[in-house]
Amino acid sequence: MEPTKKMYDMIGVGIGPFNLSLAALLDDQPEVDSLFFEQTPKFDWHPGMLIEGTKMQVPFIADLVTMADPKSPYSFLNYINENDRMYQFYFLQRLDIPRREYNDYCQWVAEQLESCQFGKRVMNTKHIKDEEEYFEVEVLDLETETTDVYYTRNLVLGTGTRPTMPRSFQDLPEEDVFHTADFLKNEERCKKASSITVVGSGQSAAEAFRELLKEQREHKFRLDWITRSPGFASMEESKLSLEHFSPDYVNYFYGLPQQQKDEIFASQGLYYKGISNHTITDIYDLLYEFSVGREELDVGLQVLSEVKAIKKKTDGSGYEITCQHLQTGETFVHESEVVITATGYTPYVPPFIEDHLSSLLHWDEKGRYEVEADYRLKLTEATSNQIYVHSGISHTHGVGSTNLGLAVHRNKVIINHLMDQEVYRIPEKSIFQKFNV
Ligand SMILES: Cc1cc2nc3c(=O)[nH]c(=O)nc-3n(C[C@H](O)[C@H](O)[C@H](O)COP(=O)(O)OP(=O)(O)OC[C@H]3O[C@@H](n4cnc5c(N)ncnc54)[C@H](O)[C@@H]3O)c2cc1C
Repeated sequence: MEPTKKMYDMIGVGIGPFNLSLAALLDDQPEVDSLFFEQTPKFDWHPGMLIEGTKMQVPFIADLVTMADPKSPYSFLNYINENDRMYQFYFLQRLDIPRREYNDYCQWVAEQLESCQFGKRVMNTKHIKDEEEYFEVEVLDLETETTDVYYTRNLVLGTGTRPTMPRSFQDLPEEDVFHTADFLKNEERCKKASSITVVGSGQSAAEAFRELLKEQREHKFRLDWITRSPGFASMEESKLSLEHFSPDYVNYFYGLPQQQKDEIFASQGLYYKGISNHTITDIYDLLYEFSVGREELDVGLQVLSEVKAIKKKTDGSGYEITCQHLQTGETFVHESEVVITATGYTPYVPPFIEDHLSSLLHWDEKGRYEVEADYRLKLTEATSNQIYVHSGISHTHGVGSTNLGLAVHRNKVIINHLMDQEVYRIPEKSIFQKFNV
């Protein structure tokens, strides 16, 4: 293994939108030598859910750079302009661009950034203390299967999340029982099924259900939607509620005691877990349309029902899902050939963090990172090296941590700290309401 001797200022692990935004903003700072590694062969944003017709849940202004630098060449509007689509976008008159277009825009940015390297997985990171202190980063090139070592003064973790699959659903054949993260990969399989059940009631569940509902009459499968929630609740989208996704709320939330933060975050599900109003409207409109002149729809929507167990039917023709009604306590068995779990995502902490950096980090009693207000992980030793973090910080920075609208603000804070100067001005107040007194 021949080490590369160069010392970088910043190495990023993972290139989702959060680190891509940082890479795009750092491109304007030639004095910062940075490199970002992503294991997938190219930028691809939740490819299993790039369903045609799905829209971003934030306005296009929450692109990779605009909230920090509207003059950046990497803005969404510049992407539109460079692709000769300005008039079409103008007449579209929409802030909520298609999800597929956001992905295409991010790919356009990633392709221009020399600091972004794809097909490279960060395998290991160690903190080295010689005359100089730095991190050693081991990177596997997934195409050539060779490993290179890089050196950096600072790290930034943007490793995102992983789909969460309930225990009882694991180890079943992937083509029959899968997470919404794999929805498009399995779309053809769904069309051949006699029955399909979607479990869960967040935005991804609703989008999968809506897509299947559109196909249901042509492909003649039975379609069910089961959730343990009391209803198919809509996301809280009023403008004053959206102010929770602001730097002001992050600052307020960060200052609260940890136990209170945990209680508040647990009560804020509808700010991020519910279903967009327009998706519920689409579904209701489709159900209404399909019910015209027909005796009964071959579709079921079941609330208040928790899935307790799932097993393959003895004749191999599908699965038996045992559910319990959460208010009456009754149990029932539901049968389905295909089961799609829309059971959310969990922050991904790469194994090398726990294996090789664990003793350098402060962990809270629930085994989560402790994080400074400016997105540095709290370290157990005094060192000039920093580890900045984007993912797995909802417990410290609140409900907006996974929101694209706050990613650029976070990167402004990170860059100001990294460069030890106010590269980006951060206004004291950015919204109408006050959260503290
Ligand atoms: C279907 C879906 C739709 C969403 N829509 C919206 C929306 O409209 N608006 C909004 O505000 N938020 C939305 N979100 C939430 C959030 O914006 C996204 O989850 C966003 O992708 C988070 O970006 P990220 O950079 O943290 O991580 P990710 O996009 O998850 O990217 C992390 C990357 O790190 C890579 N990686 C991990 N470990 C390594 C390693 N060791 N070496 C190299 N690479 C590694 C992974 O391959 C991955 O590509 C959505 C989430 C989902 C799941």
